[in-house]
Amino acid sequence: MYIAWFKKLSKDSISIAGGKGAHLAELINARFPIPPGFVITAQAYQSFIERTKIKEKIQALLKNINVENTTQLQNTAQHVQQLILSTPVPKDIEEEISESYGLLGIERKSQAQAVMQGMEEFVAVRSSATAEDLPEASFAGQQATYLNVHGKNNIIKAVHACWASLFTSRAIFYRHKNNFPNDKVLIAVVIQRMVNSDASGVAFTINPATNDESEIIIEAALGLGELVVNGSITPDLYIIDKKTTDIKKHDVKEQGFMLVRDKSGNNVKMKIPLAQDKLQVLTDRQIQELARIAKKIEAHYNSPQDIEWAIEAEQIYIVQSRPVTTLKKESKQIKEIIVTEPKPIAVQPPKHIQEYHEPPHAVQIQPAHAIQSQHSHSGVPNDKVTATKIKVVLDFAKHAEKIAELADGVGLLRLELIIAHGETHPAEYIRQNKDDAYTHFLVQEISSVAHAFKDKPVWVRTSDIRTDEYRNLKGGNKEPDEADPMLGWHGIRRGLDEQRILQAELRAIKQLHDQGLKNLGIMIPFVTNADEVQKAKELCMSIGLYPQKDVKFGVMLETPAACIIAEELCRIGIDFISFGTNDLTQLTLGVDKNNKKTQKLFNEMHPSVLHLIAHGIAACKKHSVETSICGNAGSKPEMAEFLVKHGIDSISASPDALQKVRQTVAQAEKKLLLNSRR
Ligand code: PEP
Ligand code: MG
Repeated sequence: MYIAWFKKLSKDSISIAGGKGAHLAELINARFPIPPGFVITAQAYQSFIERTKIKEKIQALLKNINVENTTQLQNTAQHVQQLILSTPVPKDIEEEISESYGLLGIERKSQAQAVMQGMEEFVAVRSSATAEDLPEASFAGQQATYLNVHGKNNIIKAVHACWASLFTSRAIFYRHKNNFPNDKVLIAVVIQRMVNSDASGVAFTINPATNDESEIIIEAALGLGELVVNGSITPDLYIIDKKTTDIKKHDVKEQGFMLVRDKSGNNVKMKIPLAQDKLQVLTDRQIQELARIAKKIEAHYNSPQDIEWAIEAEQIYIVQSRPVTTLKKESKQIKEIIVTEPKPIAVQPPKHIQEYHEPPHAVQIQPAHAIQSQHSHSGVPNDKVTATKIKVVLDFAKHAEKIAELADGVGLLRLELIIAHGETHPAEYIRQNKDDAYTHFLVQEISSVAHAFKDKPVWVRTSDIRTDEYRNLKGGNKEPDEADPMLGWHGIRRGLDEQRILQAELRAIKQLHDQGLKNLGIMIPFVTNADEVQKAKELCMSIGLYPQKDVKFGVMLETPAACIIAEELCRIGIDFISFGTNDLTQLTLGVDKNNKKTQKLFNEMHPSVLHLIAHGIAACKKHSVETSICGNAGSKPEMAEFLVKHGIDSISASPDALQKVRQTVAQAEKKLLLNSRR
């Protein structure tokens, strides 16, 4: 009763297998070739909490909780999770899990290969809550997922951690908001074999370029799927006639390198010998078989599908399918969950499991294979992969390509020095009615950064020039004299007073977006009032660029005011915030950052600054808004540790500090992990 194989379940098995488990069962029953696996039933979890008598303790802890009180919510969540984690899994449950895991290898087609690997499969361990079918707030993605888990003990540990993740603060919050009693929700855990693909790719049952429904498009590459999905290689492309499955077109490409999984579960890049690279990845027979499966999936769901597939030892596996029509909406939802899920810091799995997978918050609802690919950040050694993303602060487009290898994105692209390089003050362009020239200039500069970072996010900050800065630029001498330029006419307040400047900058982003660069985001500087953010959004829309839909839209939290009203800002609708600790510190402490006499008082670790940051992060988490930092303090180990502890999503540093920060963050994460185990 503790274990159920997919084959024995159906789409009606939610109360046993949870939403995810039931969905996989449905696919297996429809005879789609999905990777084999089993479910540790919701009843196993129930038996665990009942027999160990922690059920009552959990209920007592949750009884009078006020979910609106973030601190209380978080503390209680942590408490319950600790309680679960510190209670051993009953022996009989452990044994059933181990036994089934041992059998998983035998399910395989290629027995020889299974024997070679000692039958111990790499698996994805995924939570599958029985409340996943709740309307409105779908619970999908709220609980933990662990990838590339290997070995019985690690699997038990990951299952245990999945159980605990039923009580993340977010999950408790959602259940409360949906009036779903905590004692009614159970959790199943899906164990599914991870495909070690020889070849992989995507298939569309409609031509996405032309919307031609009579064609199936297949993209194929050697090795694991990530490189196809994230666009970093050019795969083979085949066009198939949907009716006859005749292949209408082969477009064979050289991909250069591929991603393979090494023995310990890390994804590594490997060069492909040229002679092999010149060959067609799939045989015509495989192409047609895949097309037939794709057709069947489309018929099953009665809508065009976007499918991820993989082939291992000649066997085709379907690792994900979703409708094409709602693709955009869905992928946004996925992204939202990816960026906003609070890290279950206190219950991260033990190190040896963690090593194998991407940060839990980044992998919530994708299927095993799709996620399998995510954990090698390009160019970043696997042992340095951190749960917190490490991004870069850029002042120039120069060297962007090299830097892109080291960073997970651009957390701040400052326009000020780029503009200075162009020698004309933004206000001067406008005075001369050369708005378009300003836009054109920015397009050139931003474009090379956006290209260099490809699919990684690049957050461009609209200009933030004080009136006492860059006076040597053309037109700079016409800048007004202000007694306190630091507190004066710069950032969004000026942008809204001189809207043509801001519009010209937004138009640059719009043009790049129209050119297909979808990785750009907009960041608004020096915000103090919510209506500034509202107006900036409206200005975007007035030029045909839709914030949060076309581009990520965020604000700098660099004034105490912005930190304090963070929730109000979130409610307007933003994707992310970034702490500008340079300004935040000087404004909080009343210390001019550029004044030598007061320099010794400039302290980003001052409790008041930390208080504002913690407040800002908590507010954003409540509203699922991504959090980051782009002030210089992010490079300080003590600040990085503080931020990691509070669950910041990314830290940005200057290019030269990237490696150091990555190390610091990795250490901070490890420390947290150890503390949580004690
Ligand atoms: C900051 O204030 O921390 C920030 C990143 O903005 P700038 O340094 O450009 O003022
Ligand atoms: Mg600033």
